[in-house]
Amino acid sequence: MRSFGLERAITENELLLHYQPIVSVPARQLVAVEALVRWKHPERGIVSPMEFIPEAEATGLIRRLTFWVLREAMLQANVWRRDAAVLTVAVNLSVENLHDPHFRRFMELTLKAAGGPENLIMETSARALARDPNPPIATLELMRDKRIRVAIDDATDEDAQVLESLPADIVKVGRGLVTKMGRDRRALEYVRAVVNAARERGLEATAVGVEDQTIWARLSELGFANAQGYFIGPPMPAAELAEWRATRV
Ligand code: C2E
Ligand code: MG
Repeated sequence: MRSFGLERAITENELLLHYQPIVSVPARQLVAVEALVRWKHPERGIVSPMEFIPEAEATGLIRRLTFWVLREAMLQANVWRRDAAVLTVAVNLSVENLHDPHFRRFMELTLKAAGGPENLIMETSARALARDPNPPIATLELMRDKRIRVAIDDATDEDAQVLESLPADIVKVGRGLVTKMGRDRRALEYVRAVVNAARERGLEATAVGVEDQTIWARLSELGFANAQGYFIGPPMPAAELAEWRATRV
């Protein structure tokens, strides 16, 4: 019953994307946005992806969902480009997508529409990659060959193996660790360890979940290249992002 609802959501266009700013550290310049899916449910209002992505993964609907997200994000990126406001967009992929034989073909089509792989980042959860007995290394390599940047998402100090072994360009340190590091020394040391491991491999580190000035102030010293969080800007519809950009210059 619930998955019937999600299928309808995709078909009936009940999904929408919000975009969260990602800025450079310490200059605080907008370098990219992360596309985050929401479900505009006719009765429940806006539903969080945490509530329906696991179900999409379990039922196989994640293929259609991700195709929708990528297409929508690329259309939006084209609008930004047309308005001379070129923006890199980061899209979340489930590990199931990376194993999907249709995904490569879809990606080729997406790239044709996208105008430039430089403006695309593909994020995949560190935890899902760590749990995968057969990590999709060839697909990650293919993306990087096509000059799409690959981000390992929501990394913690437990993901050293993934950080060392998988092809990637960016490591995103999870908000679980980042939000804690202002008040918890251990969390701070874990963050430092992840950023150092990333930098040793030549990967750029992004902090997710930067909620206040105290955390922001530590990012540069820790070696973060980029940051994302409510302190900088929340996820918002594309129209609001335009206003957000306008008020910052
Ligand atoms: P994520 O990829 O780690 O995305 C960041 C999440 O952290 C977003 O939650 C964002 O709203 C939230 N966040 C950002 N800054 C802050 C902050 O300062 N404080 C707090 N407390 N939270 C912050 P959201 O949008 O609810 O997304 C949750 C997760 O759902 C994402 O985590 C991602 O794993 C998944 N997701 C979202 N969109 C998609 C999608 O299109 N496809 C797939 N496969 N997964 C998606
Ligand atoms: Mg993400």
